[in-house]
Amino acid sequence: MDPANAGDIANLGVVVGGDAVAVIDTGGSVAVGAALRAAIRAITKVPIRYIINTHEHPDHVFGNAAFSDATFVGHHRLPAVLAERGPYYLQSYRDQLGPDEIAKVRIIPPGVLVQDESTLDLGGRVLHLRAAASPAHSHCDLAVLDAASSTLFAGDLLFVRHVPVLDGSLMGWLSLLRQLSATPALRAVPGHGRQVVAWPSGLADEQRYLATLAADARRLIAEGVPLGQAVARIDQAERGQWQLFDDYNPRNATAAYGELEWQ
Ligand SMILES: [Zn+2]
Repeated sequence: MDPANAGDIANLGVVVGGDAVAVIDTGGSVAVGAALRAAIRAITKVPIRYIINTHEHPDHVFGNAAFSDATFVGHHRLPAVLAERGPYYLQSYRDQLGPDEIAKVRIIPPGVLVQDESTLDLGGRVLHLRAAASPAHSHCDLAVLDAASSTLFAGDLLFVRHVPVLDGSLMGWLSLLRQLSATPALRAVPGHGRQVVAWPSGLADEQRYLATLAADARRLIAEGVPLGQAVARIDQAERGQWQLFDDYNPRNATAAYGELEWQ
């Protein structure tokens, strides 16, 4: 997120049912959320009833205030995570969004919580929601399946071209992806990168990146290489495969090393 893109960096989803519209993530600023709202109004008069937040990261929830009259839906841990991190996010994204935009942002926690699996009926169109049992990409990942279009809205459980960003648990993420790959969908919308990919084949690059991250970190830990020297040697085979690699790979490598060091 930066002043040039105004927080418009994540893929957002909209599903229109017979009597309700569901929005999947609202973007990284209220301006992005408001633009999404206007775009929905241009295609349907059906009320925008549900806002599903796939996880806590600002680029997915900062647009929530544009939909403050809707019902918010999320992982059962999302309210606690937003309460803990929200104030920090508002502070730390001030420079990226600018004072005017950040002043409009409201941290809005979900009122409808998903424990394990749940459904939302939009009127002749049912969404299946699945909350991750433990941390993966983030601390409260939620995936949404629209069976009618055979589309999985994966949130940041799936990155395409944009290098994956680890903020939860590497082992948890890899494990969850093995389960998620069995989801009966023909296509998926990733949180970042290309808007639609074939499913589950569109998962292959990310699985390889994360598996290599784990394998490299494990090997260097076993060889006794200290963190400071290990980071620059982790997942280097993936360099060139991903956008923003140098922005996030060192952080991912550090997190992976820290997680696996204790195993
Ligand atoms: Zn994220």
